[in-house]
Amino acid sequence: MSLDGTYDDNNPFALILAGKIPSVKLYEDAHTLAFLDIQPQSKGHSLVISKWSRARNILEIEDEALAEVMATVKTVATATRKALAPDGIHVAQFNGAPAGQTVFHLHVHIVPRWAGGPIGFGAHGQGQFADAAELAALADEIRAQF
Ligand code: 5GP
Repeated sequence: MSLDGTYDDNNPFALILAGKIPSVKLYEDAHTLAFLDIQPQSKGHSLVISKWSRARNILEIEDEALAEVMATVKTVATATRKALAPDGIHVAQFNGAPAGQTVFHLHVHIVPRWAGGPIGFGAHGQGQFADAAELAALADEIRAQF
């Protein structure tokens, strides 16, 4: 998919917002939702999305929605640090398939990093699926820090 296109109402994050598929939620407010990635790049990898914007990428998103998303990124990164004590936190956002985007509802990745561990992104959307029970336990740990 290129940078240009139309919003797909059946993309996975639209389905999560519509309650049609499950997600392990970390945080929610009136405008944004944060949940754990199902194919994490590291322990505690989460995603933040706008609940109302139909932007596919950063070129399309309303300034207000972007500000709301980034404020939630900070909130979730702070709780993630308290819960998991990473040495670094990788905040990433990809636009267009050639840049690695696989889900076309704008999202920001929060990836805790530990010294000596990998720092790049593995194959987008093709990594190992996380164990559901492990994700649920991890979410409890992070949610306790908000
Ligand atoms: P992108 O490559 O588009 O920046 O990132 C998409 C991310 O969404 C990937 O890290 C992928 O693992 C994650 N993802 C894709 N589908 C789902 C889903 O249905 N649920 C959750 N929790 N994560 C998803």
